[in-house]
Amino acid sequence: MSTPVKNIGYIGLGIMGTPMAMNLINADYQMLVWNRTVSKCKPLEAKGAIVTTSPAEMAAREPEAICVNVTDTPDVEQVLFGEAGIVRGAKPGLIVIDHSTINPVSTQRFAAQLTEKAVTLLDAPVSGGDVGAQQGTLSVMVGGDEDAFARCLELFQVVGRNITHLGPAGSGQVCKACNQIAVSANLLGVCEALALARRCGLDLQKMIEVVGGGAGGSWQLTNLGPKIATSDFDPGFMIDLVLKDLAIVADAARSNRLPLSGTALAESYFRAAAGAGHGKLGTQAMAKTLEQLGSFTYSG
Ligand code: NAP
Repeated sequence: MSTPVKNIGYIGLGIMGTPMAMNLINADYQMLVWNRTVSKCKPLEAKGAIVTTSPAEMAAREPEAICVNVTDTPDVEQVLFGEAGIVRGAKPGLIVIDHSTINPVSTQRFAAQLTEKAVTLLDAPVSGGDVGAQQGTLSVMVGGDEDAFARCLELFQVVGRNITHLGPAGSGQVCKACNQIAVSANLLGVCEALALARRCGLDLQKMIEVVGGGAGGSWQLTNLGPKIATSDFDPGFMIDLVLKDLAIVADAARSNRLPLSGTALAESYFRAAAGAGHGKLGTQAMAKTLEQLGSFTYSG
C-alpha cells in the first residue's frame, strides 16, 4: 500500500490556488506556501501554513509533494527550473503536482527533466472554475506515474470529486485541452441562444431555467447564462486565460492535423472581446462580441 502524502507545499495562490490550498489546510494537511506576490500568502499563514522564500527553499524543507498552480507553460518552467526553482532544493522522491493548465508536450519534457533528479511530475489540471475550487468539487485530470497518483489520490479527493488518471505524463493536459474545446464551443451556443431569446422578447431567466433542465442544459448555461443576462462580467475564469488554453488546443489541432473549426470560431469571438479591452473579464464576456455583431444588448 502506498502512503498518502500529508506534508505538502503549495505554489501559486491565485483565484484557483488559494481556495484549493485552503481546502487542503482545512483537511489537516501540513503546508508550506510560496507566492510571487507575498501578500497573497497571508490567509494561508493565518491558518497555520509556513511561508517560504522561494520554490527552492520550499523543496529543501522536504515536503512529500508540492502543488503548483500558476498561469502558463513558461511560468511552470520557471517555478520548476528557474534560478530559485524547485529542482534547486528538491530531494529524490519528491512528487510535483502541476494543477496549472499548460502545454502537454512541454509537460512531457518537464516530466523527463524531473525524472533525472528522481522527482516525479503529475500533471493534474482541473475544471470547475473558482466555484468548484471553493467547494472542493473540481474535476481533476491526471497524467503521470501511477504509484505517485495513488499516493496523491486522497489529496485530489479533497480538492475535487471527479478524479481520473488518464495515462502517462501529459495525458491530463490533453484531457484539459478537450475540456476547453467543449467549454468554448458550448459557451458560443449559450450566447447565441440568449441572443435569440432577447431579440424575441423572452424572459432570459425563464429561458435559462427551462432549457437548463432539458437536453440543452450545461454548466455554461446554468452558471454563466444568468451572468450574461445581468451584465455581470466579473471573472471566475478570464478571457485572457481561455485564449491561452485555446492556443494550446490550436497547437494540438495543428500537430494532429485535425480541423477543429467550431473551437476556432469560438476562439475568434474571445479574441474580439479581448481586442475590445475585455481580456481581464470572465469568459462570459464573449457575449459582448455577440452584442456588437448583432447590435443589441442582453440586459437593460
Ligand atoms: P490567477 O488568479 O491569475 O493566479 C495565477 C497565479 O500564478 C498567481 O499566484 C501568480 O502569482 C502565479 N504566477 C504566475 N506567473 C508566475 C511566475 N512566472 N512565477 C511565479 N508565480 C507565477 O490564475 P488562476 O485563475 O488561479 O489560474 C491558475 C491556473 O489554473 C491557470 O493555468 C488557469 O488556466 C487554470 N485554471 C483556472 C480556472 C479558473 O476558473 N480561474 C479554472 C481551471 C483552471 P502572483 O500572485 O504574484 O501574480
